[in-house]
Amino acid sequence: MHRIYLDNNATTPVLPEVLEAMRPYFGEHFGNASSIHHHGQETRAAVERARDSVASLLGCRAAEVVFTSGGTEGDNLAIAGLTIAGDHIITSTIEHHAVLLSCKHLEESCEVTYVPVDSRGVVDPDDVRRALRPNTKLISIMMANNETGVLQPGEEIGKIARDADVCFHTDAVQAAGKVPIDVNHIGCDALSISGHKMHAPQGVGALYLRKGTRLEPLFYGGRHERSRRAGTENVPGIVALGKAAELAMQGFQRGDDKRMSALRDRLQQGILAQVEDATVNGTGAPRVPNTSNIYFDHIEGESMVISLDLKGLAVSTGAACSSGAIEPSHVLTAMGLRPDQARASIRFSLGKQNTPEDIDIALALVPETVARLRELSPAYRKQTVNS
Ligand code: PLP
Repeated sequence: MHRIYLDNNATTPVLPEVLEAMRPYFGEHFGNASSIHHHGQETRAAVERARDSVASLLGCRAAEVVFTSGGTEGDNLAIAGLTIAGDHIITSTIEHHAVLLSCKHLEESCEVTYVPVDSRGVVDPDDVRRALRPNTKLISIMMANNETGVLQPGEEIGKIARDADVCFHTDAVQAAGKVPIDVNHIGCDALSISGHKMHAPQGVGALYLRKGTRLEPLFYGGRHERSRRAGTENVPGIVALGKAAELAMQGFQRGDDKRMSALRDRLQQGILAQVEDATVNGTGAPRVPNTSNIYFDHIEGESMVISLDLKGLAVSTGAACSSGAIEPSHVLTAMGLRPDQARASIRFSLGKQNTPEDIDIALALVPETVARLRELSPAYRKQTVNS
């Protein structure tokens, strides 16, 4: 069966060029990047080249890049590392659990304000401003949401943070490689990214940390990453992240992001044209080019995912990290969807490997699957007969 993967916000396939770049670091280039002999120098040079590439992707200095094990670690490190007991933190209700649960954990010693979003899934910067208190130390608002792809007003929030002399962290895990990022434009002090959302492998990521920002590390050990993240570097993963960053930058120059949004829009418009009672979650808000989250009235999201998977199409309901859980998405309910509407929403997320033919096939499979599931729904039949 020809399988089509439209779940790239859960994870992306490693690109062949990325795999090629990292392969030697599993073999002949095996040194510990902290060793001073030839083997160590070889891997140290590769780590520093990757740091330069990630710095170029983010518009920062190489010394401001801290390699991590992924987005979860970057988020935890920023939130726990930039605050102390007694501080006040501002975050939003639609953050990834890596941020939400880090904040929840800190509620034992800190105060946390969770600002809401509007029906498009966008944070109002004025809510952030109004939430400021004399002891506010950190604002953590994501750049792009993993479920809807909705982009947040990062630059306005960055300005509010700067004016109030408060640290601003943004979770850019779902933005990196999809939209250009410039940390100075955003005005953030910390920004997390994850390799496996941008065609590098799982288990590697980076945290941008503005020069001069004091950070308490999460791990204690060697003086790796300028004492900001102890632990022998994951050299193959870091090399892969550097290569993925280079490819992302080349992609922006070629207009890959425009190609991606054209494909996504064709998928979305094609579905809306063929399927009644379907709406895009996040309509009217700026979004990353690869994501479309669609509510299909009277379908059960899990059944839809399973039915499409049986036909070779991989999509998801809400966040991958909570798949298996039956609770409706906290993101969609924060946008005002009822729990049943949130459960009836499907996320389609494209990657660099997707082709126009993939979209054609998806456009054939989705409407017929929705129709079949609705045929099985007595409530939907009753509604259509009565209307
Ligand atoms: N933040 C966002 C917005 C995400 O989508 C994810 C993963 O889904 C993470 C953080 C966690 O990243 P990782 O899987 O690299 O730990």
